[in-house]
Amino acid sequence: MANTQLKKNTAKEKITIAGAGPVGALLAVILARHGHPVNLCESRPDSRKHSVYQGKSINIALSDRGWLALEAVGIAEQVKQNAIAMKKRVMHAVDGTITEQAYGKEGQAIWSVSRAGINEQLLDLAEKESLINIEFEQRLIDVDFNSASASFSHEHAINKVSGDILFGADGAYSKVRRLAQETPRFSYSQSYMPQSYIELHIPANADGSFKMDKDALHIWPRKDFMLIALPNPDGTFTCTLFLDFQGEVSFSSLTRRSDVSEFFQQNFADAMSLLENPVDEFMEKTANPLSLVSVAPWVINNKVALIGDAAHAMVPFFGQGMNCGFEDCRVLGELISQYNNDWSQIFPAYQGARKINADAITELAKRNFIEMSEYSGQASFLLQKKIEAEFHQRQPKLWTPLYSMVTFSPLLPYSEALAIGDIQQKIMQQIMRIPDIEHCWQEDFVYQKLQKLAEAVFKGVNNEAVIHARGENK
Ligand SMILES: Cc1cc2nc3c(=O)[nH]c(=O)nc-3n(C[C@H](O)[C@H](O)[C@H](O)COP(=O)(O)OP(=O)(O)OC[C@H]3O[C@@H](n4cnc5c(N)ncnc54)[C@H](O)[C@@H]3O)c2cc1C
Repeated sequence: MANTQLKKNTAKEKITIAGAGPVGALLAVILARHGHPVNLCESRPDSRKHSVYQGKSINIALSDRGWLALEAVGIAEQVKQNAIAMKKRVMHAVDGTITEQAYGKEGQAIWSVSRAGINEQLLDLAEKESLINIEFEQRLIDVDFNSASASFSHEHAINKVSGDILFGADGAYSKVRRLAQETPRFSYSQSYMPQSYIELHIPANADGSFKMDKDALHIWPRKDFMLIALPNPDGTFTCTLFLDFQGEVSFSSLTRRSDVSEFFQQNFADAMSLLENPVDEFMEKTANPLSLVSVAPWVINNKVALIGDAAHAMVPFFGQGMNCGFEDCRVLGELISQYNNDWSQIFPAYQGARKINADAITELAKRNFIEMSEYSGQASFLLQKKIEAEFHQRQPKLWTPLYSMVTFSPLLPYSEALAIGDIQQKIMQQIMRIPDIEHCWQEDFVYQKLQKLAEAVFKGVNNEAVIHARGENK
């Protein structure tokens, strides 16, 4: 490898990172700023110089956990310049009726950002750090879990990269993780959701304007399947169709053009006039699977660690995969400061802090498919959300809706959001059983009852989760 000589030598541990995706690039910056020389090795060509993404504009929803991590390295404002605030969900019913639901309070939003764009901005930032050496077209093929040295292939040659620590930031199909499966006592599980997905596109109008409300994430919830659309700065929308891989109505069963056309006409009639060649795209594209990965441990021999999707690939239904990966990096950075670069303490603390939370958001993301694809189209669900939002306004220290805990409470651990959310759901089931709740939901007695039920569980209980929920630690 021509350039593996680090630009500067220091006494701090030399760290190799496999994978310069968004998480690997952010991690490199954080480690370098703590004084660690970093070799950041990526299997793909540099997307800033070559067309790696084949014209695709994959966008993702970034929320407060992601922003907090980006703020920590001073790049949040720059990323926000190319991001679009999505303040609400807009649901499109089969008959074309539109309903809206704000994501949070006034001023709160999730943000549509280009995955490639944010990756490239982070690579630019990493390149400015004198302690970081970035190498492209270097595919990790082997790891020595005792020494943290690794082998990378490049144009038929094998390059050995030595270091004191190695991070696998190489994504959902991580090679580091696959190699770790051969180490003793490594637990691994991978499962697939019944759904797979393809991307579709809504072009801009001729004058460059948006064809739909751009301040929103659009959803066409159809119970067993759904279409979503996120806006891009150029007036287009990137859409994702989630549909069963197998079964009566599925990617496997819809093989004839006429059936696909009928499927779109029947289920997405209003989107048909907006989408660019959905039938052709459906016929041409291979559906991507959605997998969930859980591993333990995340750290092997205090030498090799997993981070981002390599550690916790999850389904995209809570829009948290990258947010969670960025949070891994932020928390790791804080632990490096807390333990003064002592990795014998940092690694156990990192695993202890992150594994439980990644498991929690993986579970929440899985559950959220039903919320998005089925419940979001139901009046009773939307009413429950309205009641919770109203109660949050009235009693912000007693009640924060689950979605807001996950999305807009970046210091609240995911595991606590999950635990509190489960309790809240039981309470809300009682509220939703109030006779004629559809008509009386704005009346004070509803909120008095809700307050009584919530206080019985939450008030005076002196545990972390409830203190977080009451917002007293912020
Ligand atoms: C359809 C969909 C929608 C999503 N929507 C959202 C969303 O709204 N919000 C959100 O927060 N998250 C979302 N996600 C998740 C998000 O895309 C991932 O969590 C995020 O990209 C993970 O970043 P990463 O850097 O860990 O992994 P990746 O982005 O996969 O990057 C890994 C990098 O490692 C490189 N690599 C792989 N193997 C090797 C090797 N052997 N050697 C060297 N390099 C290697 C790859 O080329 C890649 O550059 C979505 C995911 C999907 C599939």
